[in-house]
This record gives sequence, structure tokens and C-alpha cells, in this order.
Amino acid sequence: MKEDLTFVDTIEDIVANLAIVTAYLFFTNQLILKKVELGDKLSSAMIWKVGVAAGLLGILLMSFTVHLNGTLLDFRQLAIIIAAMYGGIYSSMIAAVMILAMRLFAFGEVTISTVIAASNTIIIALAVGAVCYQSFSYRKKWIYSIVICNACTALVFVINVGEQAVIPIVSYVVMMFIGGLLTAYLVDFLNKANVQFKRNEKEATVDFLTGLSNNRSFDAKYQSLLRMAETKGECLSLALIDIDFFKKVNDTYGHVNGDVVLKELGTVLRETARSFDTVSRNGGEEFSVLLYDTPHEHALGIAEKLRLAVGKHPFKLTDGTSLQVTVSVGVATYPHTSKERLMEQADEALYKAKASGRNQVCSNQRVLVLSP
Ligand code: GH3
Ligand code: MG
Ligand code: MG
Repeated sequence: MKEDLTFVDTIEDIVANLAIVTAYLFFTNQLILKKVELGDKLSSAMIWKVGVAAGLLGILLMSFTVHLNGTLLDFRQLAIIIAAMYGGIYSSMIAAVMILAMRLFAFGEVTISTVIAASNTIIIALAVGAVCYQSFSYRKKWIYSIVICNACTALVFVINVGEQAVIPIVSYVVMMFIGGLLTAYLVDFLNKANVQFKRNEKEATVDFLTGLSNNRSFDAKYQSLLRMAETKGECLSLALIDIDFFKKVNDTYGHVNGDVVLKELGTVLRETARSFDTVSRNGGEEFSVLLYDTPHEHALGIAEKLRLAVGKHPFKLTDGTSLQVTVSVGVATYPHTSKERLMEQADEALYKAKASGRNQVCSNQRVLVLSP
């Protein structure tokens, strides 16, 4: 045991505890919470993970006690608040039960005082869990949680040490205030970083207007499917789709209605293609469908199905009127067409479809395959 503890020793203990909390938040964020946002409804597996991780933190914090004027204080309640913030009352209860079990069975002798302190952990977990269950703002959840911890723990001090409780209570309140503020800031910071990361990831791969793959993710998928087709000796068909006379749609109905048509076309293509086909908007009014393990004739059939679906779809404009739109489609298939020339050949077939009157599907292997 340390003797003659000074104020500096207490500060050292507090800094060590906060360093543990910081490191814990960083690692759990990387290992468990990467895909989770504060306020998300968690799966039961995730509720358990959050609870158990917080329980381990609580146990660690309990063993790194802060020494102050002969009193031992610790930050275990912070672990319970963190669990409640992410996983609500179930996670905070899991963490609390772990902390309580450890306190009763592994940390020295069990006295009335330790039983009271341990029960305090459960009461706090219930109350803080209930607070986090409400639709309070993040800031309010933290404030109420810290007030609950301070009030309950102060009561425990009074019960356990009576008149000598004043100094430990004041110290604990100050400690929880500093620790709570830092933890609230860190949790919020990591959460915002996760949200931003997810948003950037989505914006980098998804076309904002149609929600389809954008040109960048099309390219990545195209390369990987070509590699897979080559390795497995399977075929890959590519259908390039371009709206006929789209400039006229913009000129007649305005750019906003042009965008409405693009968006709806995205939906029609997505709903008509098979679930495993990759539908992309490659730019402007040009779309594509990657058809894996689909022989040329079959791909032509799917392309025709797409063309017909677009042709009969009533595109609803902003003023409520509907518009008919047609598309031309060019199809090429690996390995009949080499992988180096697949894109260029599908484009050539699309050009043929345009040159032959539009609203049709063309193959790069024959002049005209399907026409209205
Ligand atoms: P074609 O049948 O030969 O394909 O004729 P087209 O008019 O569809 O082709 P063109 O390449 O002449 O015009 C394409 C038009 O697409 C021109 C451009 O204004 C429009 N466009 C490109 N991107 C967008 C977009 O994001 N929104 C809107 N509303 N229009 C776009
Ligand atoms: Mg075009
Ligand atoms: Mg066009």
C-alpha cells in the first residue's frame, strides 16, 4: 500500500484512469463499434458485446483505484454510462453484473459496506440505462447519468462512513465531472468520426441521384468480375444502356424533370435486373448492367427485358404528367469478346443500336438482334 499519498499521487491516479478509458474507447470503437452509431437499435449480440466490453472496463477501472486521503475511489460508473449510451439498459446491466460479481468474489473480503457499494452499481445501471432509453439529447443523457452516479454514490458514502463522507463525496463528484466530460467528448468525437467515415464511403461508391453504383464502384466490380470469370472459366456480359433523345427531355421539360427521369430509370433497371446483377449509372444518362455467368444469348434476353420495362414505364414528372422514354442497349460478352475489348465492344453495339433507329438491343456479334 502507498503511504503518505500526496495530491500529485491522486492526480497521477486520475490521469492513469482516464488514459485507460481513452484507450478502451479507441479499441472498442475499432473492434466492436465501427459500424454502430449512437442511437442505433442494436442486435442482441451487439448489446452483449457492448455490455461485456464495458464490464471488463469497469473491472479494470476498479483495480486502478484512485487514492485520496485514505479513501479509495474509482471510475467504474463511467463504464456503466458508456454501456448505456450505446446499448441501453441491457448493456448497462450486463456491465454492472460483471462488475458486481468481480467486486464480491475477487476483490478481498465481503463486508456490509462492499455489498452496499456493489448494490449501488446495479441501481446506477438501472437508472442510467433508463435515462439513455429516453429520447433526451446526448448532452442531457450525460448530465442526468452523472447526476445519478453522484447522488447514489454520495448516499453510499453517507451510509458507509457517516460524517466522514464529505471529502470523499466532494472528491468523487469532481472526479466524475472531469471523467464524465472527457468520456462524453471522446464518445461523441468517435461517433461523429464513424458517421462521417460511413457517409464518405457511401458517397464514394453510390450515385447520389439514383442510388445505383457510381462509375468508380462499377469499375472496381467490372475488374473483379472479369478476373473471376477468367479464373473460373465463366462468362461475363456487359449491357450498356443510353436514354434516347434525352437532351430533348431536358429541353422540353427542364433539367429537374430530366433528373426525375434518371432517378426513375434507375429504379426500373434495378427492379427489372436480377438481384445479383450490378446496375450502375456510369455518368449522365448512361447506365450499365454487369451480368455475371450469363452467356451472350441470355444477356441479350435480359437486355431486351430491360428495354421493354423502360418503354412501358410511365415516368411521372413534377407536374404529375407522365412521359414515355426509350433506351438503346449494347451487349458484349467475355470470353467471346476479349476482356481488353469488352467495354469498347459493348459501346460499339450501343452505337449500332443508336444508328439503327434507337429503342433496341444490339449485340457486338451480329448487326441487329432485337428490335421493337
Ligand atoms: P441519343 O439518343 O443519341 O443518346 O441522344 P441524347 O439526347 O440522349 O444524347 P446527348 O448525348 O446529345 O445528350 C445527353 C444529354 O444528357 C445532355 C445532357 O444535358 C443530359 N444530361 C447529362 N447528365 C445529366 C444529368 O445529370 N441530369 C440531367 N437532367 N441531364 C443530364
Ligand atoms: Mg449519352
Ligand atoms: Mg442518350
